[in-house]
Amino acid sequence: MLSQVGKHELYERVRKVVTEPEMTLAWPLIAEIRELKRAREAVILAHNYQHPLIFHGVADLRGDSLQLARLAQEVEARTLVMCGVHFMAETAKLLSPKRSVLLPSFEAGCSLADAITPEDVRALRRQYPGVPVVSYVNTTAAVKAVSDVCCTSSNALKIVEALGSPRVIFVPDRHLAGHVARQTEVEIITWEGGCVVHEEFRLADIEALRASYPQIKVIAHPECHAEVQEAADMVGSTSALIDWVAQEKPREVAMITECTMSDNVASHFPEVAFHQPCSICPYMRKITLEGIRDVLRDGSGQVEIAPTIAAGARRAVARMLELS
Ligand code: SF4
Repeated sequence: MLSQVGKHELYERVRKVVTEPEMTLAWPLIAEIRELKRAREAVILAHNYQHPLIFHGVADLRGDSLQLARLAQEVEARTLVMCGVHFMAETAKLLSPKRSVLLPSFEAGCSLADAITPEDVRALRRQYPGVPVVSYVNTTAAVKAVSDVCCTSSNALKIVEALGSPRVIFVPDRHLAGHVARQTEVEIITWEGGCVVHEEFRLADIEALRASYPQIKVIAHPECHAEVQEAADMVGSTSALIDWVAQEKPREVAMITECTMSDNVASHFPEVAFHQPCSICPYMRKITLEGIRDVLRDGSGQVEIAPTIAAGARRAVARMLELS
């Protein structure tokens, strides 16, 4: 668990994206959250796409959705506060069922998780009898419960191939499905889901970046359009994008993903210049410092999963962990 930085160090980390008056205004709230967190024996989890004041100011654990859920299993805490979207809070609850999992806003949904229902999965199973269903972690627990196994963007190919089936149903993201299909002999049957944030990026954005910054390296998330992926120097999950920057240390880079992530990681790589077209997730922005304070103070925002759904969803997540 990372220690909490003081006011001066926090400002140094966020100064490119947060003004000094904003920081001064937010500081009493950050201090109040830290105090409430101690009183409630809580741990705050923040996804890479969270606002920098949340990410650097109050979070104890940071990462992508699966990293967060796994790390949360290892810490001692009675309460977990998920600064991310609803399906992430559900996954944390699935893996830590005895803990309270609090979500600061139930409006923090996800266009991908909304793209498919359990009934859609059942219809696909009827259409393709005997074909296993892999559901991306960006789905509701109810969809996971009717799937054979889950996957993340980092282990999708491995999970698909580990099933040993010549055909696999892969839902709901069509671009991640295409990314997997281009790397495997397994036939991929997919669904027309997409992420509103990653679908914003176009080939013209990449061309414009390369024209403006001839030395730039462009690295993209697999939820982007195929043409964007093909034009990139590397395609990978959010954690793979960060690892790539840490390893390659490019002079200039564009991370083609939710742009808050660049703001959050840039302070760790002062020698790297980050440029990019910006697309912000409106769902992630539903999580605010005020919302975090309120759930910690009141114990509100409890995430619950019906036992029948939880059992099936936990099985699909456990199978992913076994296979990856
Ligand atoms: S960035 Fe896309 S996939 Fe992630 S939470 Fe937002 S809408 Fe969902």
